[in-house]
Amino acid sequence: MDRVQLLGLNGPELTDFVVNDLHESRFRAKQMREWLNRGASIDEMTNLSAALRARLNGIAVANPVSVMESYKSKIDETEKFLYALSDGNLIEGVVMRYHHGDTLCVSTQVGCRMGCAFCASTLEGRVRNLTPGEILGQVAAANRHIQREDPARRVHNIVLMGSGEPLDNYDSVVKFLRLVNDPEGFNISLRNVSLSTCGLVPKMYDFANEGLPVTLSLSLHAPNDEIRRRIMPVANAYKLEDVVAACRNYVEVTGRRVIFEYALIRDVNSDVKCADELARRLRGLQCHVNLIPLNDVKERDLNAPSRQIVDAFLKRLTQRGISATVRREMGADIEGACGQLRRKVLSQQ
Ligand code: SAH
Repeated sequence: MDRVQLLGLNGPELTDFVVNDLHESRFRAKQMREWLNRGASIDEMTNLSAALRARLNGIAVANPVSVMESYKSKIDETEKFLYALSDGNLIEGVVMRYHHGDTLCVSTQVGCRMGCAFCASTLEGRVRNLTPGEILGQVAAANRHIQREDPARRVHNIVLMGSGEPLDNYDSVVKFLRLVNDPEGFNISLRNVSLSTCGLVPKMYDFANEGLPVTLSLSLHAPNDEIRRRIMPVANAYKLEDVVAACRNYVEVTGRRVIFEYALIRDVNSDVKCADELARRLRGLQCHVNLIPLNDVKERDLNAPSRQIVDAFLKRLTQRGISATVRREMGADIEGACGQLRRKVLSQQ
């Protein structure tokens, strides 16, 4: 039987577990919550009796995620984590230190089944979905890790931009968002959370109605269906026009602007004609475009364009009235891009 992941339980669920499964007083739930928020293991919950801890260890785990390896950039303070899950699967994450606080990039699946041509996370397909406790567990484990050096640090912003397609693991991701926002739990404002999707249109409409004020990032990467289909299989399922319409709906329902991610790929989507077409598509939409010179992936024959081409693309978009910036690269020396570290480790095993 799978052990209960305590971090994945919300307030009423934890109380129910304590009262009905452990036959303990509900006060124990409050004690346990404080430990869970600090990323503690069951053995560290020293205000519970040794007998209770032993019983708990038999049926539950506090955090199903642990940092197995970490790599710190020498260029900036970006730190990359390789996490181990209870079943031996590996996922990765990265924490970036900005002046407005630490931002953690979390994974939502082991692998991914979306098949984007430029992405390392999808090369072996989707292994499985992560549970809410495993998504929150990354935050707890990262907090713990960074606080060993500096107790004042803590994850302040979260981007769901690690491995996996969040909207392909919808229920777990929505539960995670409610847990991480819970004032009794991590109490992270959903305004500090971004969810990135390759554009699963029906789920985007569902998500707009959840009442969760997160920032939506849309991985567009192309100005038209023809180019998009060449690099993103999901474009065969949903037309770009319908993806943009779903974004417009998100803006209307939530009042929040949408961020478009656009990885610039040499000879694929980076000439100024593409910038013109993109600007036409996005005209009138409350949005911002994040341009990302492609992180070269060894396994794929796709590369970033030159700096001049990136600058020309940015300039043209801006001239056409579209708010855009080029994303600063962080952690270039530690395999910062998604899926790269996990692949490297797996291929060495
Ligand atoms: N599945 C989600 C989130 C995970 S990927 C999504 O598609 O949005 C997070 C972002 O990194 C996405 O915009 C993705 O397209 C981008 N990405 C993946 N591989 C990349 C690479 N080699 N270079 C630049 N961006 C990449």
